[in-house]
Amino acid sequence: MASQTVSSGQKPHVVCVPFPAQGHINPMLQVAKLLHAKGFHVTFANTIYNHKRLLRSRGSNALNVLPSFRYESIPDGLPETNKDATQDVPPLCASTKKNCLAPFKELLTRINTADDVPPVSCIVSDGIMSFTLDAAEELGVPDVVFWTTSACGFLAYLHFYCFVEKGLSPQKDESKEHLETKIDWIPSMKNLRLKDIPSFIRTTNPDDIMLNFFVHEADRVKRASAIILNTFDDLEHDTIQSIKSIIPQVHSIGPLQLLVNQKMDKDSEIGQMATNLWKEERECLDWLDTKSPNSVVYVNFGSITVMSAKHLMEFAWGLAATKKDFLWVIRPDLVDGDVAVVPPEFLIETADRRMLASWCPQEKVLSHPAVGGFLTHSGWNSTLESLSSGVPMVCWPFFAEQQTNCKYCCDEWEVGMEISGDVRREEVEELVRELMDGDKGKKMREKAEEWRRLAEEATKHMLGSSELNFQMVVDKVLLRA
Ligand code: UDP
Repeated sequence: MASQTVSSGQKPHVVCVPFPAQGHINPMLQVAKLLHAKGFHVTFANTIYNHKRLLRSRGSNALNVLPSFRYESIPDGLPETNKDATQDVPPLCASTKKNCLAPFKELLTRINTADDVPPVSCIVSDGIMSFTLDAAEELGVPDVVFWTTSACGFLAYLHFYCFVEKGLSPQKDESKEHLETKIDWIPSMKNLRLKDIPSFIRTTNPDDIMLNFFVHEADRVKRASAIILNTFDDLEHDTIQSIKSIIPQVHSIGPLQLLVNQKMDKDSEIGQMATNLWKEERECLDWLDTKSPNSVVYVNFGSITVMSAKHLMEFAWGLAATKKDFLWVIRPDLVDGDVAVVPPEFLIETADRRMLASWCPQEKVLSHPAVGGFLTHSGWNSTLESLSSGVPMVCWPFFAEQQTNCKYCCDEWEVGMEISGDVRREEVEELVRELMDGDKGKKMREKAEEWRRLAEEATKHMLGSSELNFQMVVDKVLLRA
């Protein structure tokens, strides 16, 4: 098919396709907002399942408020009986890969035959929704792939096939010693152990969905017109250079949150647009307003992490023992296979110094002056949001590239301390105290503040590296100037 270009007088039209999980939808919305600010007509294509969740959490009139920013949906291909189509990642990956291309092409046709919107001129899709590349090629439009992890996570995924070729995955040896195996053959990655590599290689099953999925997606991404990463050059310079030697068309454009804040009036319709799959409890901010600077520990394990009821207890009693004020977000589905509840004794003991919630406006929480430290699962958005606010971390990585993020936070960026996987209350108490009041915590806070300053620099209007990279991707790739 002949290549489509933007004809004069017509708005460029981008279709944004996030992977259907909270940590992917949020940064994609930020890209969509920035493109809208640059004059693009935006179609934001969620899965039907998430579209319905958004309607429930935001209200049925909250989505399509602007004629030039429309929400659409495509099926994820999972059976209706699947109750948790966002939280259960392997079937979701298998299904989107197998089933989404046809409905996505139908959506593109529907848009291109409608007479009230400009024709689709480009696509921005999640790195693990690579079926979009086939549709873009068929339509003759550029597809910029947004790989939403850290650059270090992405570099590790790009080498997944090498782990298979070297016989390191699927694993034949499940011992602790094996996990300490040095990984010193990925250019720019220093002092890594097998256990620091994204979790999906740690399988014994050659047919493992996630291992094979990431080998496949990391290979297909090379076909993208450009790849954008939510990071900044000062933070991951060597890693980005290492990726560029494999895929030259990669560009760092983060932290997106700072770019968006700089470009957008927060009270405008577009500034207010949010994509929380859970209902936000904004009272957290009022509670934080009553606290003194750097006095509160913020605890949140993101949208997918689950833990055992025993681990929940260890965190609870560890936090109680610190005697610090804390804001703890406990999703109702945080405990694997059970309802997440903390004991009444814990509630009584901590009554005057804690706030519990099930979902909060995290970016605002992290940038609140009262928050002095973050106990996190090291999801990339959370990590970058914490760095962008100058907040040091205690890291309890759960899965995916969170282990890699944790390693870099602790050793390269010097803003984190890792807590054991099989967490104990004494360790929670010790590390949180150190984070908030210790010498190491002080040094980490200074370092985090330095990263915050560099993140601001990277997103500075007309000058910052990320700002310039974003402009270049828009001009040269999405608009094909
Ligand atoms: N988030 C939020 N409120 C919460 C928990 C999380 O707004 O109570 C947001 C957070 O700011 C981040 C995303 O959800 O943008 C989580 O992404 P991350 O990569 O940190 O972790 P994931 O959920 O993918 O494991």
